[in-house]
Amino acid sequence: MGSPIIEVSGLTKVYGMGEAMVYALHGIELQVNAGEFVVIMGASGSGKSTLMNILGCLDRPTSGTYILDGEDVSQLSKNKLADVRNRKIGFVFQAYNLLQKMDAVKNVTLPMLYNTENHRTDADRYKAAVEALESVGLGSRIHHRPTEMSGGQQQRVSIARALVNHPAMILADEPTGNLDTHSGAEILDLFHQLHAQGGTIVMVTHDPEIGRHAQRIVTVSDGVVLSDEYNPERRVN
Ligand code: ADP
Ligand code: MG
Repeated sequence: MGSPIIEVSGLTKVYGMGEAMVYALHGIELQVNAGEFVVIMGASGSGKSTLMNILGCLDRPTSGTYILDGEDVSQLSKNKLADVRNRKIGFVFQAYNLLQKMDAVKNVTLPMLYNTENHRTDADRYKAAVEALESVGLGSRIHHRPTEMSGGQQQRVSIARALVNHPAMILADEPTGNLDTHSGAEILDLFHQLHAQGGTIVMVTHDPEIGRHAQRIVTVSDGVVLSDEYNPERRVN
């Protein structure tokens, strides 16, 4: 097993106040190690998006601890959280979230511009973006805009964007939700490839068919982890 990437303990998230108070997370316990491919499953309203937002450093917990790649991020300021997010996490969203006016290579370059730690030249950034696009099979489409690509191709651009800063983990929220079966299968193949190369992947879904692709399935219900099991259909590393 690799070193811990996610160490979450007693995590709670409360929305609202007084009578309108909602406990979205109720004491989550979760550890994910480097090199794991984990799916977080649960019905609508179970707390998946809330958990995903906290794991992705988009939001802070109300209480409990979250140690990300050895760094306690439980109560960081918004600016510090944004910085950690940019360095450590590659996001893949259901709706791709690409900038429509920019071509593929510019979309993939963006996370490097926000990365204040390494001072790369424009030429270095361009080269890294092209390499990331080649790694997802889009070497011949680097100057296409999102409107000139299929859904599957757009999602591959977003995966290249997620990979370009070499994150500690990929967080994917229903990454095949907008795709037809064939394109969805291609995207899942790509995740398997990243996993085989040593990548750490945490994928959120409500769809058990998608869940079957992971090595480990964590089920969330009413803001707690209901079960956490290795998938017998997948070999455990
Ligand atoms: P899921 O992604 O599994 O559908 P969510 O994390 O979106 O679940 O929601 C968990 C619970 O928290 C739900 O009861 C939802 O209504 C509530 N909730 C989510 N976001 C907010 C918010 N911003 N304000 C108030 N309640 C919220
Ligand atoms: Mg949700």
